[in-house]
Amino acid sequence: MHDSINNQPDTRDPIHIECAVWEAMVNHARSQLPFETCGVLIKPRHCRMYREFRPLMNRASERLHSFQPDAQEWVALVMQAEREQHTLLLVHSHPGRPPIPSTEDTDGIALSAALFDAYIIVSFHKDGTHHKITDGDPPDTRAYRLHASSTQHRHGSRHILFELAHITIVERKDDSERLVTC
Ligand SMILES: [Zn+2]
Repeated sequence: MHDSINNQPDTRDPIHIECAVWEAMVNHARSQLPFETCGVLIKPRHCRMYREFRPLMNRASERLHSFQPDAQEWVALVMQAEREQHTLLLVHSHPGRPPIPSTEDTDGIALSAALFDAYIIVSFHKDGTHHKITDGDPPDTRAYRLHASSTQHRHGSRHILFELAHITIVERKDDSERLVTC
């Protein structure tokens, strides 16, 4: 187990995701197997429920085991979030590994953690192999809240701690519920 991961469940408000948005996130990750995928969940800052999933192109040279969001898409997204007061949650997939942040993940997030409310890994790992593309089994998905620790990397950025968080998937049926779950 990575020493950056705290497995105590988060006692704060769970991460709320609208059902259709959750499905779009999982379907995107499944559609690109055996490659890793990345994207973001988006919500208005004053709401608690994530209402949009936006896939980002994975430009990593080794897409089987890593992800690198397309720089242009990335910059446009971050600027839009700032302008429109949106909160972002970073999503990526692990086609053949458990939903635990890798060393590349923890190093990669060190410089941009402040941009995100949380972090989700969608894992298709199963008994040492990945699911077949047609396999309808739900992936093993985990969410983490990100915290800057007091220790620093050699290059000056903060070491990031990943705290396991609960996810609540919200079925949005009518307007009355929308008001409650915003
Ligand atoms: Zn990863």
